[in-house]
Amino acid sequence: MHQTVNNLIQIQNQLKDYNENRLKNYTKIIAVSKTFPTDKILPLIEYGHTDFGENKVQEAIEKWTNIKEKYHSIKLHMIGKLQTNKVKFAINLFDYIHSLDNFKLAKKISDEQQKNNKKPKIFIQINIGNESQKSGINSNELNEFYNNCINDLNLDIIGIMCLPPNDNKGDFYFKKMSELIKMISANELSMGMSNDYLEAFKTGATFLRIGSNIFGNRN
Ligand SMILES: *Cc1c(COP(=O)(O)O)cnc(C)c1O
Repeated sequence: MHQTVNNLIQIQNQLKDYNENRLKNYTKIIAVSKTFPTDKILPLIEYGHTDFGENKVQEAIEKWTNIKEKYHSIKLHMIGKLQTNKVKFAINLFDYIHSLDNFKLAKKISDEQQKNNKKPKIFIQINIGNESQKSGINSNELNEFYNNCINDLNLDIIGIMCLPPNDNKGDFYFKKMSELIKMISANELSMGMSNDYLEAFKTGATFLRIGSNIFGNRN
């Protein structure tokens, strides 16, 4: 069996040991394949894995256009910063966008989804640690931003996403996220990466974004 498949199975077993029902019914693992070539990705697809994440539109187009034509069950997740001039390409490739972080982008997605007859599922990115160098909506603006997206722009907002500060207090931020999501009429929590996915899972994450623990280290 290919190493990436082994790695995925190991993570699945670990999560099952903690809560099998939650893994089966609520939580998806997104295999974050950014920087990795298709020969590392295909074994996972053949094993039956469906959810993959990329953080650059151009790279995703090159790697995924053909694969998606062949395997219709694939769900592709945009997890990186999305520039407005890339939205029209992103809309045609990605099933999910995890990084909605400003109103101009929301407006652009709204325009392009109408033009292209697409409706991606979207997460609002939250700047959960209020870090000046990170993008995202502030927690106290979530409600208003969400209402604008739903009522004025017809976006399919399914949840919130975060990249917590790098201070080993993931648990604290994940709990904040699980409180925040109750403020809006959406349920999904995109949080947890290779170094903290178990904590995120325990706190209610419904989409884990795992790269290096599946594919190995990125150079
Ligand atoms: C790269 C990336 C991940 C995966 O990171 P790993 O530490 O390799 O698991 C998750 N989320 C985002 C937004 C990323 O850019």
